[in-house]
Amino acid sequence: MSARIIDGKAIADAMRGDIADRVSAFRQQTGVVPHLAAVLTGDDPASAVYVRNKHLACERTGIDSDVLRLPAETTQTELLAIVARLNADRAVHGILVQLPLPRQIDPQAILDAVTPLKDVDCFHPENVGRLMQGRPRFLPCTPAGVQQLLIHEQVPVAGSHVVIIGRSEIVGKPLAAMLMQKGPAADATVTVCHSRTRDLTGLTRTADILIAAIGVSEFVKAGMVKPGAVVIDVGINRVGDPSGKSKLVGDVDFAAVSQVASAITPVPGGVGPMTITMLLENTLTAARLSLQ
Ligand code: NAD
Repeated sequence: MSARIIDGKAIADAMRGDIADRVSAFRQQTGVVPHLAAVLTGDDPASAVYVRNKHLACERTGIDSDVLRLPAETTQTELLAIVARLNADRAVHGILVQLPLPRQIDPQAILDAVTPLKDVDCFHPENVGRLMQGRPRFLPCTPAGVQQLLIHEQVPVAGSHVVIIGRSEIVGKPLAAMLMQKGPAADATVTVCHSRTRDLTGLTRTADILIAAIGVSEFVKAGMVKPGAVVIDVGINRVGDPSGKSKLVGDVDFAAVSQVASAITPVPGGVGPMTITMLLENTLTAARLSLQ
């Protein structure tokens, strides 16, 4: 078997076209241009690339965006003051604090300080609580991107067994909550596996939909996948290749697993573009909320 490759970039491009139309209509109706402020602290090269990609995606969608670049020595007090200023700025609708933060800053203290109405990453406890109760204000970007991929690919989720490897606050845990709730592309039976799970392969082999969010390159091998399963690879890992260059690989051994799965996302070009697309959607939502 050779799996169908789920083209996250094409799906994301189509969704971004639709968001751009809605941003334009919103602007005409209200005179308000949705505005995302991104804060990049320190000089982590991967973070700089992520923030640049988010900024470009905003520009192409008609969303205003600016990037505050702060030195690696920024203190927690200084960053809290910047977040407070953005919270109070009526022209800013969404605030994105790029992680990871330098060691001297407690990320929880910063994320908790972002006002929930501008929390486009859906990291604030109030927004996470609302998500858990099934009445979300924003959907977290990567889990929402995964769910949209399943919708666009018409993967039957209701009643299916979804196995998620990874229980992070950013991906695994909120994704489990979203897929087990009632609703479209949800109503699944969800198993969450993690570093302490016993008999991981025994569990992953029972998955109709297997989602890997581990952060270990090519961790999921063909023998861990039930024939015909849909495999979603959230991982983004930079590895060196024999020529001395580096490349991005996912958490799934793509070449081997695509011989077993019925459909699979590539890395790059799978979940990544969807994550940014959901950030654009959330920024438009935040702009609407600012008028209520
Ligand atoms: P994380 O490090 O916070 O969590 C990793 C999870 O994997 C943990 O819950 C851990 O228990 C589990 N795990 C680790 N080793 C394991 C093992 N041997 N067996 C079973 N479980 C194991 O990572 P994260 O923030 O959730 O990110 C995961 C991956 O997804 C990373 O590669 C990251 O770069 C990528 N990511 C991609 C996007 C995107 O837009 N595509 C967004 C966020 C994260």
